[in-house]
Amino acid sequence: MNFIVRTPRNNPEIVEVRYDCECGCKPRARYQRGTDKAGHEHCCCGQVHFVGAGAEERLKYYLEERAAQRLDEELGGYSIYCQEINTPWMESILVAYAVPSKPKAH
Ligand SMILES: [Zn+2]
Ligand SMILES: [Zn+2]
Repeated sequence: MNFIVRTPRNNPEIVEVRYDCECGCKPRARYQRGTDKAGHEHCCCGQVHFVGAGAEERLKYYLEERAAQRLDEELGGYSIYCQEINTPWMESILVAYAVPSKPKAH
């Protein structure tokens, strides 16, 4: 996936990772340098991305919690992918994202 990585002008310690989703949205998630956190955004079509520490585990946990509440049944399951991106401070961090088999309409 083609992720766009940028830093807000007023905070060089944050990366904002976004992409152009097929549904037309531009979901964005943030990671703050030096933290053990990950940000995420859940797009209207069902696609989800997490950026930062433990991104893959957090994404899987998030989807499991939703599955336990039967929230995503109409999506026909998810495929999970991981990709490394480089921050402006030359650290490589993980983006984990889940793509639904049957995305919802925008
Ligand atoms: Zn979308
Ligand atoms: Zn959308």
